[in-house]
Amino acid sequence: MNLVLMGPPGAGKGTQGEILSKRLGIDTISTGAMLRAAIKEQTEIGKQVEKLINDGKLVPDDVMVKLVKERLQQPDCANGFILDGFPRTTAQAEALTESGVKIDKVLSLEVDDDKIVERLSSRRECSKCAAPYNIISNKPEVEGKCDKCGGELIQRADDNPETIKNRLNVYHEQTEPIKAYYDKMGLLVTAKGEEKLEDTTSNVAKALGLEV
Ligand code: ADP
Ligand code: ZN
Repeated sequence: MNLVLMGPPGAGKGTQGEILSKRLGIDTISTGAMLRAAIKEQTEIGKQVEKLINDGKLVPDDVMVKLVKERLQQPDCANGFILDGFPRTTAQAEALTESGVKIDKVLSLEVDDDKIVERLSSRRECSKCAAPYNIISNKPEVEGKCDKCGGELIQRADDNPETIKNRLNVYHEQTEPIKAYYDKMGLLVTAKGEEKLEDTTSNVAKALGLEV
């Protein structure tokens, strides 16, 4: 299955992507995680995008399209993949279609804006492996430590109130129109993001026609 996950920041794409990845045996490709890794390593791309990301702005389409096309050519994508964070603009969606990559389904996780700020301020991620956590709804076994690798849990630089507001605006203006694009292609399914992680997981399974 070639799947696209979309939804506002903090909708739970990273968490649900990881659950689906295990369940379906395919890798999640998170463009946000790729970009944060590039910033950490201070690569050319990393230096180029750091300020944009910390301001809640989008990285230019040409940069993203090149990055994702290269990633999708890796052998591990042959059996399927879950795209998290791409496409994020109509131009990116069109570029993906034109590249000949077949998408089977586009899952939109729906969460109201007023929930987002609250959620993002309790979000944490592993500084080593980028696994997602939430100190209210998805706690690690040991406080401040990653269950998978023991890495330290940190708050993302773009999870501050000002940047969150920008990211939400960008989502509504630039990313949400993609839903209509994929709906026309007959690929769009939606699932409501709930307070409780397990409830969202079961909504997602239902939307994708998997056993709950
Ligand atoms: P979110 O929690 O907002 O869904 P992500 O981890 O997916 O965050 O992305 C973080 C930031 O990385 C975005 O706010 C944006 O600046 C940049 N980014 C990630 N993917 C893309 C993309 N496909 N196009 C443009 N910018 C992107
Ligand atoms: Zn970890």
